Amino acid sequence: MSKSSNSPRQPTIAQPMSDFFIKGLADTDPLIADALAGELERQQTHIELIASENIVSRAVLDALGHAMTNKTLEGYPGNRFHGGGEFVDLAEQAAIDRARELFGCDYANVQPHSGTQANQAVFFATVKPGETILSLDLAAGGHLSHGAPPNQSGRWFDAHHYGVEHDSGLINYDEVDLLAHKLRPALLITGGSAYPRFIDFERMRHIADSVGALLLVDMAHFAGLVAAGVHPSPLPHADIVTCTTTKTLRGPRGGLILARDAKWAKPLQSAIFPGVQGSLHSQIIAAKAICLGEALGEDFRAYGKQVVANASALAQHLSDRGIKLVSGGTDTHIVLLDFSQQGLSGQQVQDSLSTVNLTSNKNPIPFDSPKPSEWAGLRLGVAAATTRGLGRSEFELLGDIIGRAVARCEAGDQTEIESDRQQVLSLCERFPIYPR
Ligand SMILES: *Cc1c(COP(=O)(O)O)cnc(C)c1O
Repeated sequence: MSKSSNSPRQPTIAQPMSDFFIKGLADTDPLIADALAGELERQQTHIELIASENIVSRAVLDALGHAMTNKTLEGYPGNRFHGGGEFVDLAEQAAIDRARELFGCDYANVQPHSGTQANQAVFFATVKPGETILSLDLAAGGHLSHGAPPNQSGRWFDAHHYGVEHDSGLINYDEVDLLAHKLRPALLITGGSAYPRFIDFERMRHIADSVGALLLVDMAHFAGLVAAGVHPSPLPHADIVTCTTTKTLRGPRGGLILARDAKWAKPLQSAIFPGVQGSLHSQIIAAKAICLGEALGEDFRAYGKQVVANASALAQHLSDRGIKLVSGGTDTHIVLLDFSQQGLSGQQVQDSLSTVNLTSNKNPIPFDSPKPSEWAGLRLGVAAATTRGLGRSEFELLGDIIGRAVARCEAGDQTEIESDRQQVLSLCERFPIYPR
């Protein structure tokens, strides 16, 4: 039915906007609204000591809940498969430029959906199924995505691992060298999730060169410390560097791939898309740009310095109280406690800390049992609480509270936790996060 050409145009009458676009979560899905409210309340009333966590800025949260999430795009800025990408292009290009400036490298890919997928893409670009990779052992602080048996990387590649020295807890570089010469890996990987010390990137580079291997440094944990200038940068030494934007970098959940040399651009671009991922997560890319912008600022350098100062204060205080630390201390945000001498499991201490509103995680220590229930370690990280504003004296107070929780575990006595819990709650009130 075509209208006659001279019929008057109908006046437009705006439809009332549908509830679908107006009603908030509390009205539409109370179950999930309660879960979200409960999680916020939990974060407000507990001190977060899990080393892979942090607390993002209001600005980062704003981007994560933005309508930009509706936009589907594949490809890279200026070369997309779909139309309408001009605003996401602005955000992605800003994220790329800021990552390159922050870490001083020619190439950055900001699309990896996670740290694991960033590593997967590097494998896709650099090694073939069946080829040999060499990485830090899981119990010595490595990561699942570096060739652990249950991970895809462990199934698809001939994965071997180096460890740490028994007494010092430091990476056994002689063993790395020996294994590299014996196995001739295509890819040498370093970096991990529970290694509290600086890694000798120069030595790793030397070993990789001596056997013709590529060197991948996964700086997921310490990327924020590198950005803040308080940790040596792997960029001058590694062929490729991966990281998460969570953890010390204090951004949204997701990953980055970086390379000093632009020759990696082509293989890595196509490894992420279409190699291992499809469309990008537009709103997360915007949040990554924001966090990278924050990390370029002076406040972030101050945060990085404080992270390192707080971790060393906590390590010193715990060690003065007779708690054994893997490697004897820390150079980073991680403090790894070893309860093997007391015969305690990490789980017991984790549970004891949770009764006083401190959140942490059990962890293997070097040469530990493969069974998580028997792990003798507890991993602590100071980044989230540092973001919250806690300084050295508050971390010394936390050290006292942790020491008492460990003593309660040893004595099998769970009484008298209330005063410690109240002290943690009052810290939470003195250092609030997000407006109520
Ligand atoms: C956390 C971590 C990852 C994985 O990041 P996800 O985003 O959880 O996949 C990869 N490598 C290392 C060393 C990590 O610590």
